Amino acid sequence: MLAFVFDRIVAIFAFYKFNNMQKKKHSNIPIFVPELACPHRCVFCDQKKISGSLTIPDPDKISEMIETYVNTMQDGRKIEIAFFGGNFTGIPFELQKEYLSLAYKFVQNKTVAGIRISTRPDYIDNERLDLLKNFGVTTIELGAQSTNESVLLKSGRGHTVKDTENASKLILENEFELGLQMMLGLPGDSFESSYKTAIDIIKLGATSTRIYPTLVIKGTMLEQFYNAGKFIPLTVEETVQWAKEIVKLFEQHEVRILRIGLHPSKEFEDGKSLIAGPYHQSLTELVMTEIWNDILLSHLQLIEKSSATIRINPSQLNFGIGYKAKNKINFSGKGITINFIADYSLPKYKIDVSYN
Ligand code: SF4
Repeated sequence: MLAFVFDRIVAIFAFYKFNNMQKKKHSNIPIFVPELACPHRCVFCDQKKISGSLTIPDPDKISEMIETYVNTMQDGRKIEIAFFGGNFTGIPFELQKEYLSLAYKFVQNKTVAGIRISTRPDYIDNERLDLLKNFGVTTIELGAQSTNESVLLKSGRGHTVKDTENASKLILENEFELGLQMMLGLPGDSFESSYKTAIDIIKLGATSTRIYPTLVIKGTMLEQFYNAGKFIPLTVEETVQWAKEIVKLFEQHEVRILRIGLHPSKEFEDGKSLIAGPYHQSLTELVMTEIWNDILLSHLQLIEKSSATIRINPSQLNFGIGYKAKNKINFSGKGITINFIADYSLPKYKIDVSYN
């Protein structure tokens, strides 16, 4: 018991220290533009509930919002202003300009390093990219969601795989950084088509990604499909198993995973909007726990009734121990007591094992 408490203290300390180091590297100031100018209705989408933001941001409030964030980030970290949600390049040009010029002031006076936006693949062309370039946008994230034509169609996305390919190419040609977001468990999806989407995201040249589960949200078409028995969402366990393989693939190809799962939202927490689906506040931790279970198994499976000391990079310490100490408890059940020690000298997925 004492050893367990000690491990948790070491893990919390190392994680806190690592998080601080990470924060020094990069933080976003998020500005959500829910459903703004998005004429589409993807079957799963109620953007207001997904983003947790119910109001369209007033341009007058944006500078204030950015300044408030910046004041809490005065530790030398790289800061970007991020226009998330909705369909940024679908906003009328004048309003895009208004939002971007407010943000660009902070790029010009070097308060922030750049601006990133998220949008749809079929709303990218040279004219739109020129505008983004003129106002200091550095990264464009596209909601690719799937590279399976039938999945896109069944999900009511209203764009094709070709749109994603063309937009990705144009973004890279114009020297923006490319992010491609994907969803797991869309209508008609399978593990194979999700994994293929991840492969395509890598091939298309994305340097970052976000992995979202498909949820059934009140008031969406998907709710009707679900009620009619035409759509069955993934379970949390299935989502974790799919995501585990996809995360491994992205890691191998050095595609930065910016998020696994949706932002925690009061709308989901109080159960008012979420009808069904794999919502979990700690999806990243669940996925990383499974990845680390596999790594530990590959090192420890042959040795029973023993005690092992595992040195591990502090960024991975909590994941190695597992969500709610799952890995530690599992191995303990197999007769192996593991003591974890944080070691900054080790790469992210490398461990150093010694047996006591
Ligand atoms: S394009 Fe984006 S904002 Fe528009 S309906 Fe689809 S998911 Fe929602």
